[in-house]
Amino acid sequence: MHFSYLAHRFSLIERTSSRLEIMQLLAELFAMLSPLEARIVAYLVLGQMRPPFLGTAFNFAAKGMEYVAARLLHCSVAEVAVLIEQKGDWGDVVSQGTWQSTIELDIATVYAELERLEDISGSGSFDAKISFLVQLLRSVDPLSAGYIVRIVMQNLRLGFSDMTMLDAFSWMLQGDKKAKPLIERAYNLVADIGRIAQLLVAGGLSALKSISVEVGVPIRPAAAERLMTAEDIIAKVGPCFAQPKYDGFRLQVHSCIDESGNRVIKFFSRNLLDMSSMFPDLAQAFSCMPYRELICEGEALAYDEANGSYLPFQETVKRKRKHQVDMFAQDMPLRLVLFDILYRDGISYIDTPLDERYPILQESIGACQSSVLDVAEQVVCDSSFELESYFLANIGQGLEGIMAKRKNGIYQPGKRNFNWIKLKRIERGLLDDTIDTVVLGYYFGQGRRAAFGIGALLVGVYNKERDCFETIAKIGTGLKDHEWVAMKKTCDEEKVMQQPTDVTVAEGLFPDVWVAPRIVIVVRADEITRSPIHTAGATKFPGFALRFPRFLSIRSDKSAVDATTVQEIQELFAQQKRVVF
Ligand code: ATP
Repeated sequence: MHFSYLAHRFSLIERTSSRLEIMQLLAELFAMLSPLEARIVAYLVLGQMRPPFLGTAFNFAAKGMEYVAARLLHCSVAEVAVLIEQKGDWGDVVSQGTWQSTIELDIATVYAELERLEDISGSGSFDAKISFLVQLLRSVDPLSAGYIVRIVMQNLRLGFSDMTMLDAFSWMLQGDKKAKPLIERAYNLVADIGRIAQLLVAGGLSALKSISVEVGVPIRPAAAERLMTAEDIIAKVGPCFAQPKYDGFRLQVHSCIDESGNRVIKFFSRNLLDMSSMFPDLAQAFSCMPYRELICEGEALAYDEANGSYLPFQETVKRKRKHQVDMFAQDMPLRLVLFDILYRDGISYIDTPLDERYPILQESIGACQSSVLDVAEQVVCDSSFELESYFLANIGQGLEGIMAKRKNGIYQPGKRNFNWIKLKRIERGLLDDTIDTVVLGYYFGQGRRAAFGIGALLVGVYNKERDCFETIAKIGTGLKDHEWVAMKKTCDEEKVMQQPTDVTVAEGLFPDVWVAPRIVIVVRADEITRSPIHTAGATKFPGFALRFPRFLSIRSDKSAVDATTVQEIQELFAQQKRVVF
């Protein structure tokens, strides 16, 4: 397929707001592609070159794009600066060019050129990248150039997530969404949307049979439901296991032996990014392991050797860094507490019940003989009294709570269900947990804050069924002056000129500045209420809103679609009501 045709499809999708129509347009598009093109397009429609765990690396600065646009539009860099200020998007600036392309490049050729652009590095690369990109853009039409530029600048947002693509694949194959669970199951095992697209286009649903857990390719993580009391948990799942809820950051560990016989350890974050280079000390801990292959999951925590205790999250998070890794590894040693095993030497354990999985985890980690690795403590709780006592003992030691786990629960990749239930410390107020919200825009503010150019944030939650973001609160507290300044900078990096098509906001709440739904922030509130103005969970009003919301922190380990969902808000609302009355 010619890239120019793909660009027209992109533009059609971008102008469509109906979720169903977007999905149908995608289905039509994939039906026209060869298997290899399907793989490439599956990445490109999401603004990526490959799955997140392999990363996209253009490192193209805005300054460089000013020169590119100036050369394409035959104007000065100063004029380009005015244009970008007006339009707010590099793609829109470039696509107003009037040059004619003489040849038609196909998708695979453009992709290969983009790969070459990624590879340009070293001294002189700033100029080399500019020249290379100008040449590529001149060989396609201006509309295509606009989309290529947005991919290079990492801000192509066509208004849907990978979830809509799974629906689209099902629609492509059989004209309805019924095959989505099957396709999603494969995607949860192998978090590579391009691979799934390629297989489906080549061989239909039956081709997915070849998909299974694979070392080196992250598995989409299982997540926990929440309940408010130990009684609720026992009533829901009966006697269960309980583990401490460690407050560090989640890592999925993949270990294998490469072709040269060397052990390779990879660490993937909660949102499946490759963090391997950050933790050489943890990688070293697996060096004596007697197994060729292993996939396990755990929580990394900073450890105070002198006191023999884990440090709070604020300390642990300092180890998430790209530079001076060795120095920090020495000054701030980490421990990895493993709580699950998913695969070992050719055997997948995801469908093995936890009571059988846990001993295999103990055996595997014990065999590593490393003081840096621990296995999560696990106790049996037969009654709500025992569960409550275990909970109290843990929060007494400063932990944020416990995880109750179904004894015979399997590991369900990508799913949030009652196989794991989190029970957290109850804080003042009716809502006992924090909410992960997505920033959708900001307001300039009045009075003193007007000086910062930002006075309040509009935030939303993710509606999984509709694959869109719906508003739940306007937040004006919780940030100190310097945090407002930093927040404005972060928001301005994601600023968009118009309301994104996957954001639903009532007109009275339109922000002064729209922000693409990418920034996840943790919010604490007193209560979830019904609201006549917020759209969360509303086909008609009232939706849900947060009462007295305040900002706590930014969460960089979650993508927008991993934020709290409308469906979770509904559950929290129901639980909260029951506790109050
Ligand atoms: P989620 O991961 O459920 O979307 P979250 O990242 O906001 O939510 P919490 O809701 O606080 O985190 O709890 C779930 C997280 O707790 C897991 O993702 C994992 O990182 C962490 N965790 C800590 N201890 C355990 C444990 N023993 N078993 C499983 N997860 C644990």
